[in-house]
Amino acid sequence: MPLSNAVRQALAEDRARQQAREQAVRRRTSSATTASRLLWLEAAREPARTVSRTLLRRAADEWRRANRASSSAIETGIQQAAAQGERAGLALLAAADADTGTVEQVGTQVLEEATREGSRLQRTLARRAAEGAGNPDRAAAILRDGFAKGLNPREVAANLSREFYLADYQNERIARTEMMRAHRETTRSIYEQQPGTVGWRWVIEESDRTCAACWAMEGTEHPTPEPMPAHPNCRCRMAPILKDPRADSFLQVPDGETQFARQPASVQRRVLGPGAYDLYQQGQISLRDVVTTRNDPTWGQSVTRVPLSRLA
Ligand SMILES: [Zn+2]
Repeated sequence: MPLSNAVRQALAEDRARQQAREQAVRRRTSSATTASRLLWLEAAREPARTVSRTLLRRAADEWRRANRASSSAIETGIQQAAAQGERAGLALLAAADADTGTVEQVGTQVLEEATREGSRLQRTLARRAAEGAGNPDRAAAILRDGFAKGLNPREVAANLSREFYLADYQNERIARTEMMRAHRETTRSIYEQQPGTVGWRWVIEESDRTCAACWAMEGTEHPTPEPMPAHPNCRCRMAPILKDPRADSFLQVPDGETQFARQPASVQRRVLGPGAYDLYQQGQISLRDVVTTRNDPTWGQSVTRVPLSRLA
């Protein structure tokens, strides 16, 4: 028997109400995850994008709501977030209760520092300027402006390219490297303001696009005062080490050596390059052997590959 329009409509309304109820429950129980995902999307998917004050506040509200809701919901949220690799978001979430004003200033200060008179980047740009490549003083303003507006490195690179006649990849490297540095230092200052945070772990994207040096750094632990020695163009992030071991167990970052060993040969070969891959395959080197740190004249303290000639 065909349903009358009235019954059909009543059923549809009932289904809609049911869906809304389910959604409300899902929202409540997963608000910790939602909050961290929001931040993660902002901070990790678009790594150099600064976390806006509004977003931090929203995350703080979500977090407080979740806190009131139930502690098991938070744990589920944390677990899910950790499982989904949203550790960076959790770290920032912890910062939601920190003084976001000072946190926001850190990134700007870092960029000022990076581009001030006599800095490494300034010297490099000045050399370019001497070659007729543009006004180095403008670089500072462009980077700071981009950071403040939350532009992504590509957009900032486009602004730099109007000022500097450098290759696109060079402008992009400056924008990405310096903005990521500002972002990481912001994160680190958040950790410093959190009494529950005692250090940070190196977080990578486990893919064949990540370099061998960073693969080797995955999961390594560092004290909070140590800035991340990321290399130019590096996309790696930090996750907090928490004083409370139970809370910290949710934030464990896998160990690079173990994770790398599990990768298909095609990924290992692509990351290591054919020469080092052969040595690795034959068990003559471990992943840790391919990474070292150096003080790069332009980019500062950064991890780098050990040349093949020194591995063999
Ligand atoms: Zn790397």
